[in-house]
Amino acid sequence: MRLLLFGPPGAGKGTQARKLVDRYTLTQIATGNIIRAAMKNDTPVGREAKSYVEQGELVPDDVVRKLAEGAIADEGYDDFILDGYPRTLQQATWLTTFLSEHDASLQAVLSLEVDDEEIVDRLSKRRVHAETGENYHLDVNPPPADVNEELIVQRPDDKPETVRNRLSVYRDQTEPLKSYYKERDLLVPVDGTGTPDEVHERIADTLTTLV
Ligand code: AMP
Repeated sequence: MRLLLFGPPGAGKGTQARKLVDRYTLTQIATGNIIRAAMKNDTPVGREAKSYVEQGELVPDDVVRKLAEGAIADEGYDDFILDGYPRTLQQATWLTTFLSEHDASLQAVLSLEVDDEEIVDRLSKRRVHAETGENYHLDVNPPPADVNEELIVQRPDDKPETVRNRLSVYRDQTEPLKSYYKERDLLVPVDGTGTPDEVHERIADTLTTLV
């Protein structure tokens, strides 16, 4: 399957991508994760991306394009789920061309629908495991008691000021991609509210009818 998980920050893209990977033969390709790893390892890409990520801005298109296309090529052009890429019309156009050149066009764009109020709540209560990258929510999905508390951290870009900027960047630059994929008959809206398992079952039901 060649899928794209779409939605605002905090919609649950990462959580749902991981659940899909556990259930199907799929590789998660998350540009945010690739960028964070590059920042942690202080690579040239990581150094270039740092100030954008910390301010909740998008990393320049050409930088992210190389990361995403490299990851898709490494994966072998099949059985992937894109999470957080593309985020601009330019990235989407490049992606369409890149995938069609490799006879690997997307089969569905799953758009997780969650309203703003819930997103702000989810992001402010999101915590991540510093080593595994596992996501938690302080109320709904708290870190298990046996996990070392010191490794449970808040992403710097989940702080309230940055969250506001990320949401406005999403509205301005990323949300228009919904029309782009709708015009191409790929957009599949999925209710993103409820527990992670409930959302996962909705996605799985949708996939049985799609691919
Ligand atoms: P995420 O983990 O998907 O929320 O991504 C974290 C941050 O990485 C974003 O706020 C951006 O600064 C950067 N980033 C991730 N994916 C992209 C992308 N496709 N285009 C531009 N910047 C990105």
